[in-house]
Amino acid sequence: MLTIVLNMELVFANFCGFYTYADMDPTTAALEKEHEAITKVKYIDKVHFGRYEIDTWYFSPYPEEYGKVPKLFICQYCLKYMKLERTYRYHLSECTWRQPPGREIYRKGTISIYEVDGGDNKIYCQNLCLLAKLFLDHKTLYFDVEPFLFYILCEVDKQGAHLVGYFSKEKESPDGNNVACILTLPPYQRKGYGKLLIAFSYNKYCNISHACLRELRATLIWSLKIK
Ligand SMILES: [Zn+2]
Repeated sequence: MLTIVLNMELVFANFCGFYTYADMDPTTAALEKEHEAITKVKYIDKVHFGRYEIDTWYFSPYPEEYGKVPKLFICQYCLKYMKLERTYRYHLSECTWRQPPGREIYRKGTISIYEVDGGDNKIYCQNLCLLAKLFLDHKTLYFDVEPFLFYILCEVDKQGAHLVGYFSKEKESPDGNNVACILTLPPYQRKGYGKLLIAFSYNKYCNISHACLRELRATLIWSLKIK
């Protein structure tokens, strides 16, 4: 088993253009700040995720009993979270998921990207946001996932499609700058995946056109070369 020691530089996460305090009325902003101050104590120190044990960085609002264990077990395919290792082992024997839900929109070699609609796969996307928050300091969305699309980057092998990172974006965005959050999971950082996600997320016209795929392919080659 590999224990990953995290490094602040390794986070690609950045921008959350909405749900900032500035967007809220003063009362809501005050309540949100108070809520964060109360709840920001980090109890979960590690997550067991696939073949990794990953040290966490930040509080994430997992439901009460799950948010207060030192180690949380998370199925790397369906992202279900569990408190006990035996529950997790049992789940692994039962879980039939081997890839994200939604549709695969890109595959090249061992790299795959899935587009997941937050409205169609609410629980998966909520679980993804909860997992991501463990590595993100800023406020982000957790539960109101329906208005978003999630783009899931995976490394594929014989066992399945392993979650590497993702970004989310609003389905409808008046200003076009609609990327919500972007993250590469710590075990997969410094491999060029963050650059690929960022490049893909900035491509506003990427509706899986041929031009888009050509560009994505070129970006991938470029990002892997300069890693
Ligand atoms: Zn599962």
